[in-house]
Amino acid sequence: MEHYPQTELDVESAASFLDISVQRMQELMERRVLVPNWNEYQHLFRFEHKALQIDIGSVLVQKGNVFSLIRGFPKIKRAMLLGPAIKHNFSDIPRVAVEEKMNGYNVRVILLDGKLVALTRSGHVCPYSSEKANDLLDHDFFTENPQFVVYGEMVGPDNPYVPKKIYDIGSLEFFVFDIRQKNTGLPLPLHERRSLAEKYSFRQVRLFGEFDIQEAPDVVRHIIQDIGRKGHEGVVIKDPKMVLQPIKYTASQSNCSDLQHAMKVYNESGRDFIFSRIVREGFQSVEWDENEEDFRKRCLQLGESILRPMKESIIKVREGERVAEEFTIRVKDRATISRFEEYMRRLGMDVMFSEPKIEDNEYVVHMTKINKSTSDKTLAMWEGQLWS
Ligand code: ATP
Ligand code: MG
Repeated sequence: MEHYPQTELDVESAASFLDISVQRMQELMERRVLVPNWNEYQHLFRFEHKALQIDIGSVLVQKGNVFSLIRGFPKIKRAMLLGPAIKHNFSDIPRVAVEEKMNGYNVRVILLDGKLVALTRSGHVCPYSSEKANDLLDHDFFTENPQFVVYGEMVGPDNPYVPKKIYDIGSLEFFVFDIRQKNTGLPLPLHERRSLAEKYSFRQVRLFGEFDIQEAPDVVRHIIQDIGRKGHEGVVIKDPKMVLQPIKYTASQSNCSDLQHAMKVYNESGRDFIFSRIVREGFQSVEWDENEEDFRKRCLQLGESILRPMKESIIKVREGERVAEEFTIRVKDRATISRFEEYMRRLGMDVMFSEPKIEDNEYVVHMTKINKSTSDKTLAMWEGQLWS
């Protein structure tokens, strides 16, 4: 393993950058609110808890005694009923913009010491996403606009977190959905962001258009029905000026596909994750005033999404197998594989890596993540133990 020189946080300069006392700064470090990254990224400190009005996942970057703050991506709240939610949340503006919500994982990209670095939602440097960012994004953007951070979704099948074949993407692509100022986290207005991204040929999430508040609920409903038919995820409804908070809304098919995944690994899935997806179906069904036939279809789809994957897991364990998830990564630089393995290990993820195969000058690695909790619990049931 390579060795990297230890970098310490310059507590005094950091305190002055964040406009707090040295003592408070020391406290943040001691209580591990701020935690250093590892290897060559020891000068990146991520917020593991919210503090000083700075969101969890934000990253403080130290270069010499110059600091910058890369803000975490803010939580987007969800509409349960489109009509009331649009009316209530956007009452001060005449029009909203509707963008596609793509299903992948959230990444922030910055230029650091001559290379692009991709930070995950929690503020870790992901070696796989960083290699992809370097490949997919024009570096000129970052040298010409050093004050900005690019936020987007990594989408596609060669994806170690959220693999999806629902888009016409061969491997993995990066879709920009936000550009924000360093330090303040202030977003660019939507059209300004889109034309800037366009200028550097970044791929972007689709913009369906701008709509009057009155017509928006109906328009979004039709967009969502279409998105659902394609198996895509949903939309994010935004203030074109990016002053008001955006809201998200998803298709029933996407809620159900989340449930399928959650129930396959039922013992590791959060109860809230499952429950909120069922509640969404109730509200959508009522708001869209569907007829009995459509309602029955929804019931069947919801029920199947819950029970079928679970049934498959239970059978799997009965046949002596373990419940597991499969992922694929595809890299150009072989070193990225070992970096990614180390990264997974550091995060405490129990993942098995296959030997790399060479395909089109790239290394392809399959990863298997055993769902230990679901496998063990299911086996215990087959052995006659009681649920609790
Ligand atoms: P959140 O805390 O934002 O609710 P979550 O993990 O619950 O996060 P999601 O339900 O997937 O996430 O919804 C928000 C996420 O959607 C964002 O963090 C972002 O990664 C993703 N996203 C995809 N497309 C867009 C878009 N067009 N605009 C904004 N975010 C988008
Ligand atoms: Mg998502």
